[in-house]
This record gives sequence, structure tokens and C-alpha cells, in this order.
Amino acid sequence: MKTDLTIVGGGAAGLAAALSAIDPQLNILIIEREPRLGGILNQCIHNGFGLHMFQEELTGPEYANRFIEALKDKHIDILLGTTVIDIQKKTDFEITLTSEANGYQHLTSKAVIIASGCYERTRGAVQIPGERPKGIMPAGSAQRYLNMEGYLVGKRVFILGSGDIGLIMARRMTLEGAQVLGVAELMPYSNGLTRNIVQCLNDFDIPLYLSHTVTDIKGKDILEQITIQQVDDKFEPIPGTEKVFEVDTLLLSIGLIPDVGLFDSLQMKKSPITKSAIVDQTLMTNVEGLFVCGNALHVHDLVDWVSKEGEKAGKTAKAYLLEQKHEEKDLKSIAPGSNIRYVVPHLIDYNHLTEPIQCAFRVTKKMAQGQFKVVQNGEVILLKKAKHIAPAEMENLIIKPEDLKSKDPIEIHLEEIV
Ligand SMILES: Cc1cc2nc3c(=O)[nH]c(=O)nc-3n(C[C@H](O)[C@H](O)[C@H](O)COP(=O)(O)OP(=O)(O)OC[C@H]3O[C@@H](n4cnc5c(N)ncnc54)[C@H](O)[C@@H]3O)c2cc1C
Repeated sequence: MKTDLTIVGGGAAGLAAALSAIDPQLNILIIEREPRLGGILNQCIHNGFGLHMFQEELTGPEYANRFIEALKDKHIDILLGTTVIDIQKKTDFEITLTSEANGYQHLTSKAVIIASGCYERTRGAVQIPGERPKGIMPAGSAQRYLNMEGYLVGKRVFILGSGDIGLIMARRMTLEGAQVLGVAELMPYSNGLTRNIVQCLNDFDIPLYLSHTVTDIKGKDILEQITIQQVDDKFEPIPGTEKVFEVDTLLLSIGLIPDVGLFDSLQMKKSPITKSAIVDQTLMTNVEGLFVCGNALHVHDLVDWVSKEGEKAGKTAKAYLLEQKHEEKDLKSIAPGSNIRYVVPHLIDYNHLTEPIQCAFRVTKKMAQGQFKVVQNGEVILLKKAKHIAPAEMENLIIKPEDLKSKDPIEIHLEEIV
């Protein structure tokens, strides 16, 4: 098999990428390991999707359907139930796929967009002490069991981590008749969207224990009891603050990691913060013709930004494929400055800078009011004020080519306004 552009993953990012890459001269293929398109959206049956993209509150499947419908009758091939297990870069990309229907297959492609989403951190990642009974699982897995397969995973539930999936599952389990006894969060602030704290915890009187973590687990076969404790500013449990809960389920909402480990043979340069590829403003990696977008690039809070990033990757991959000659790059960094955890894209390619740069980033500190400063050679070239800034919420900033004073690196800083 041969194609021009292969998109790995048919979630929000992959669907948007495919739609924006459409061109009569290009053969495009989406490869999706699940039997249907839509990705994680299929299990998100709550509403709240699409406020920015469609100015409507849709459920996850409804949001996905808008894109799936738009793809119908378009010049795009789709392989469902098929997993990409390896990609190598020779002159073109050599891709190995596997599926129950067709076994192993090989494919060559001139360009690749990785839109493979992310995976959830498990108990091992945070090393919770105690026994190892059944009943401890990532919140997203519980969501899939409940919303797609019809299993309620427990009746008395505690949630560790206040990420959005944990918050959404606190409400969902309550609505299905389970008792959610609380949510413990290690940080002094929640890692979820404010609207989810209000709508999923406060509205159901579910307590949120900030600066707390699980310090013991008991249960021979299934989970019977957990202990939580308050932590100090070094995250050490404070003796005497123990609270014990009799529960049969502990859901973990302790972080998501871009799912790009399968593609290590491509030798993409990675960021230690986002745990995924380093890209320039076209979302191309150091491997020529290889693009990454969506949660596979960095974990997003809202699907709208995932779709916009997918759109960007599709558009720039199309331009790359249609361009006859590939000019050398002139890469300079877009570095995170004070109070900024990371910025995507990580690099500007000055030789291909034709459009505004859409920067997505996360901050390290909660602030009621602040200003983002884009700095080049010590000079502030762009200022943007913002309110209610929080590490859980992704920030966006557009830098126009005319804002840049030279072809030097830039930094983004956040300054508190008091
Ligand atoms: C519980 C939860 C609640 C959320 N709530 C909201 C909300 O209220 N509002 C909102 O705007 N956003 C919300 N989001 C966020 C948003 O839905 C996601 O960020 C977005 O859908 C991710 O899209 P994606 O395409 O990057 O990844 P995914 O949807 O994960 O898609 C990746 C796809 O790639 C496929 N894949 C992976 N590896 C391979 C491979 N090797 N071969 C073939 N296929 C592969 C996967 O099967 C998957 O279908 C929520 C997310 C979650 C998890």
C-alpha cells in the first residue's frame, strides 16, 4: 500500500487534520485502532463540548459526529480496527499495521500526522503504599466501562486527583447510584476546570480535600479501606491528619501522558515536560514530514483546541506535500519564561513563517489577574492581560509575524497583577 498522508488516530485531532488536508492531488488515510471514529469523545456522554468551535454545548459523541459527517463522501480512506505498531523513516515513512481482519500490513507514506491521543497514569506512577486489592483503576477506564460497556465499577467510591476526568466521574457515578465520598488533591488547588468543580462536586455536595493524598490502602481481595492525609508544602504527609474511608473503589485521576511511545523508532526529539515531540509552528517534528497534534502532542483541557491544532497539522502537512522544494529551516526557540510550565510550539522556523503562530501553554501558578509578556532580546513585543489563570487551564496566544522584531529566540512570561 502507498499513500501521501497517513493520520494515526481518528479522534478529534485526527478528524480535524484529515478534513483540512483534503486536496484532489493527495491520497489521505486515517488509521484508527477502535472499530469507530471519534476517539475518547465516544465515552464522554456529558455535555460541554464545542463551546468555542460551534458556540453550542454538545456531548462528546455529538461533537465527534459533526466531523465524521463532514468526512463523508470526501476523498479520504479510513482503516478501522487497525493499529499502527511501528513507523520508520527511510526516504518515505514505512508503516507497519495490524488488524484482526487483515493481519500484518505494510504501507509507505510521504508524510505522517500522529494524532494518537494520550493515556492515563496508573497507581504505579504515584507509588501509593498499602495492599494491592482489586477496585483501583484510572477514572477514564471506569468511564469507558460505565458509558460504553454498561458496568458500574463500584458502589462506594473515592477519587484521587482532581483532574477533569475524576470530577466528571464523581458526578457520573453519583448519578448512577454510587456514593462518592470525596476527592483528594495533592496540590493546594484543583487540577480541573472551574466549571467542573462547580457542576460535578459542589452541586452534589462531594467534598474536595485539597493538599491531601492517599497514604494507605487496605483490602485482601477487593478494596475495603483507604486512608488520606494532609500534606505539607513539600508534599510530605502530616502525622495526625489521617481520615479513613470504607470504600470498594478508588478512581485515579492523576494525569495524562501523550501516547507516542510506540513511535520511538522515529527518533523524534522530545520535551521532558510534555513527554512528546518538540515541534515548530507548522507542528512538524525534527523528522521531516512527521507532524504531531492533539493530546498526542500535549494534553489539552478542551476539545475545541484539539480540533484547531488538528486543523493546523492537516493544513501544514498538505502544504508540505504540495510544495516541490523544501527550504532549509531556521529554527529558534519559543521558551517558557517565569511562571510558564511549557509552550507549544517549542520552536519558530523563520524560513517558513507565513502565518500567525498559535501558541498554547500552561502556567505554574494560580493568579486572579496577570499579564503574559512575549519577550525578544529583552524587549517586550506583545502583552496580553488575563483573569482567573490556573495551571489546569490551557492558555492561548497568537504571535503575528509582524510582532517579531528579529529572527531571534523568544520567551513567554507571566507576571502577576496585584
Ligand atoms: C473524561 C474526559 C472528559 C472531557 N471533557 C471535556 C469537556 O467537557 N469539554 C471539552 O471540550 N473537552 C473535554 N475533554 C477533552 C477532549 O475530549 C480531548 O482532549 C480530545 O477529545 C482528545 O482528542 P485526540 O484526538 O487528541 O485524542 P483521542 O480522542 O484520544 O484520539 C486518539 C485516537 O487515536 C487512536 N490510536 C491511538 N494509538 C493508535 C495506534 N497506534 N494506531 C491506531 N490508532 C491509534 C485511539 O484509538 C483514539 O481513537 C475530556 C476528555 C476526557 C478524557
